[in-house]
Amino acid sequence: MLIKTGVPDIEDIMEITPPKRRREKGPVAVIECFQRIPCNPCYTACRFGAIKEFEDINDRPKIDYDKCTGCGLCLTVCPGLAIFIVDESYSEKEALVKIPYEFLPLPEEGSFVIGLNREGKPVCRAQVKKVQKMKNKTNIVTLVVPKERSMDVRSFSMKDYDDENTIICRCEGITLGEVRKLIQEGYRTVDEIKRISRAGMGPCQGRTCRQLIMQEIAKFTGQKMEDMLMPTFRPPTKPIKLGIIAGGESDE
Ligand code: SF4
Ligand code: SF4
Repeated sequence: MLIKTGVPDIEDIMEITPPKRRREKGPVAVIECFQRIPCNPCYTACRFGAIKEFEDINDRPKIDYDKCTGCGLCLTVCPGLAIFIVDESYSEKEALVKIPYEFLPLPEEGSFVIGLNREGKPVCRAQVKKVQKMKNKTNIVTLVVPKERSMDVRSFSMKDYDDENTIICRCEGITLGEVRKLIQEGYRTVDEIKRISRAGMGPCQGRTCRQLIMQEIAKFTGQKMEDMLMPTFRPPTKPIKLGIIAGGESDE
């Protein structure tokens, strides 16, 4: 399912879910990094030794939940937007979910948004508890969600998804309206749309837009997403200065 649609299946989710007793104890990182890619900022950012040292740069991160404080440092440096912080100790019926968020504008603290699952489908109403603007790092939006949705809500929408000005590919600024126009013109795979529009070619390499584009193609053509062609997955990229390559300058 992950390779076909970009959406993890239940076995994938079970594998990265912290034990219930740990989620109920306080904030803890949920690392939804499902593929071997050359990337390790989560390990280097963690000051608490909770993310184990990588033997190979392609390893998937392994976390010691008892050492994790839920500080969120790893979330702010993960180029794949793959890390969330879940806190089920918040109240009897509600949990906090910290979400990496790179869109603008940021939501207002106290406002209500629509909580979306990993497929981008609405699953609940959520309230914005806190917005943390991070300099040169990924911003964090903390949502209050129903406790039973703490392992479902992984993004949110501030407005009706059917608004054609909604940005689908945030790296390249491609809107829902532009994607729909391309599908109507005959571009019917994620790869075709990627090549004509650059959607999915930015730093995140389609981390969020590929499922949304597939949903639009599926809606238009009546296909099932699992029967559709997926583009080649590539790791997210992090731009660095030429000086670092040329002269050994350290990347702060
Ligand atoms: S949330 Fe903090 S303590 Fe937990 S793994 Fe991430 S950086 Fe380490
Ligand atoms: S994509 Fe994120 S979670 Fe995966 S290895 Fe890189 S920094 Fe860690």
